[in-house]
Amino acid sequence: MKKIGITLILIIILPVAFLIFNEIGKLNETEKVLEETYNNQLQAILFSVNQYSDDIVNSWANRIVELKADKNLLQEYVYDNLALEAVLFFDYSKNKILNAVGKKESNYSDETFINKILLVINENKNTIERLVEYQKAGYRKLEPLKFKDEHKFSLVLFSNTESDGSTELVCLIINPEAFAKRILLPRIQQITQNKFLIVVRDNENKFIVSSDNREFAGSVEFEKPMWLIPNYKIGIVLVGETIRDLIRSRATNNLILIAILLLVLLFAVVFVYRAVKKEVELAQLKADFVSNVSHELRTPLALISMFAETLELERVKNDDKKKEYYSIISQEANRLGRIVNSILNFAKMEAGKRKFTFEPKNINQVVDNIYQTYSYHLQNKGFKFEKDLSDNLPEVSIDSEAISEAVINLIDNAVKYSDDKKEVILKTGRINDAIYIEVSDKGIGIAPNEQKKIFEKFYRVSSGLIHNVKGTGIGLSLVKQIVEAHNGKIDLKSNPGEGSSFRIFIPIDSNS
Ligand code: ADP
Repeated sequence: MKKIGITLILIIILPVAFLIFNEIGKLNETEKVLEETYNNQLQAILFSVNQYSDDIVNSWANRIVELKADKNLLQEYVYDNLALEAVLFFDYSKNKILNAVGKKESNYSDETFINKILLVINENKNTIERLVEYQKAGYRKLEPLKFKDEHKFSLVLFSNTESDGSTELVCLIINPEAFAKRILLPRIQQITQNKFLIVVRDNENKFIVSSDNREFAGSVEFEKPMWLIPNYKIGIVLVGETIRDLIRSRATNNLILIAILLLVLLFAVVFVYRAVKKEVELAQLKADFVSNVSHELRTPLALISMFAETLELERVKNDDKKKEYYSIISQEANRLGRIVNSILNFAKMEAGKRKFTFEPKNINQVVDNIYQTYSYHLQNKGFKFEKDLSDNLPEVSIDSEAISEAVINLIDNAVKYSDDKKEVILKTGRINDAIYIEVSDKGIGIAPNEQKKIFEKFYRVSSGLIHNVKGTGIGLSLVKQIVEAHNGKIDLKSNPGEGSSFRIFIPIDSNS
């Protein structure tokens, strides 16, 4: 059995555990991929916000180039633009300012301010040259410039080719806060749709604006610098259940599921183990059964042949003795017949081939018949054999032969398993909707833990006194099968050392 247990563990638990852990690994991988995909999406959203800013400023640039010729129109355009403070046109090669248009409040015409801008342009020569190259290739590129110490403004440069072929540099002075609040906000509100939060903060983490218009001070999932406003960053925050929460709850669910699965598996293994154990025990019992049967058959056969031989050789002169020998031969032949019959019946029953013929009968009659047949035999063996039959029992539909067989089996056991106190009592009665036949003895009794098992086929109690008593272990299982075929049940009350009492119940309305 140990071997079977280990084999079960090896062939069921191990591969399944391996599969489960493999599956967990795969799940984790899937979750990772999922998280990555999701993160990519979040980053794509931030990218699209940047792209949007770029498109907006690009459209400004186009418009400015269109309106450039008419200073008034340009002035009007800048005034109407919510986030544009001023536009400066530079002669890049000469490093001087050509033209400037702006809102009055902005200090775009202030000399120190302009000098500062010129300084920044000079510091970023390479970038400017790149802009010019792009422009020559027909592509207008916007380039933000870092404007030191100036947080109120941010600079975006692009280059423009004049009709005479000269290249000028255009610098947009943007109010970053207004840009974020007036231009970006409607757009990010449209993107987020309350599913997440987009937050704009400056490089010192000062809150500027967020898609839900509320101040936000927590940490964000991702944050990217704004392309055109180098001082600003845009971050994205998940609202409600985050992907991590989802993954965590999924992992917990998976773990619970796996635990349940393992538990079920464990139960299955225990179940299989017990079933196999039962089969193994049954195989052992069957082996015992064969040897028990041989023994059971051999004893009466030996007696019959011995007495028959003695009689045949006419060694017995005394008539009484002869009579006694004949009676022994007949008794043993009966016993042999009973054993063979019960084995045959048992085999029939096992194969489901036993047929019952039910007829309404008074069980007192059946029990009385048995009593009459067996009283001489039992009294001969020194038993006090009594009957106590209840009056007025209704007829019940039974196969009287089978019921007799069951009762005889019980009487047989009562005789076999009685010790000093030889007493067998047959009783009938009625409880509610059932009549009963009881066979009780004052014999060795049955231990509580054996009381259920003795009804199993081939099972014999293998301790103490019983060891010496012959039997095949099929008697009680036969009784049980017969009773069940009558829709009845069998009850046992027994105390070791005090005796046993078996009660066969047959339902009164039974017409099976
Ligand atoms: P067998 O008597 O051939 O061994 P049974 O199926 O009739 O097989 O009985 C199973 C076991 O139940 C017996 O081996 C015996 O240990 C126990 N048993 C049955 N009847 C009695 C009884 N009246 N008193 C004590 N033990 C009993």
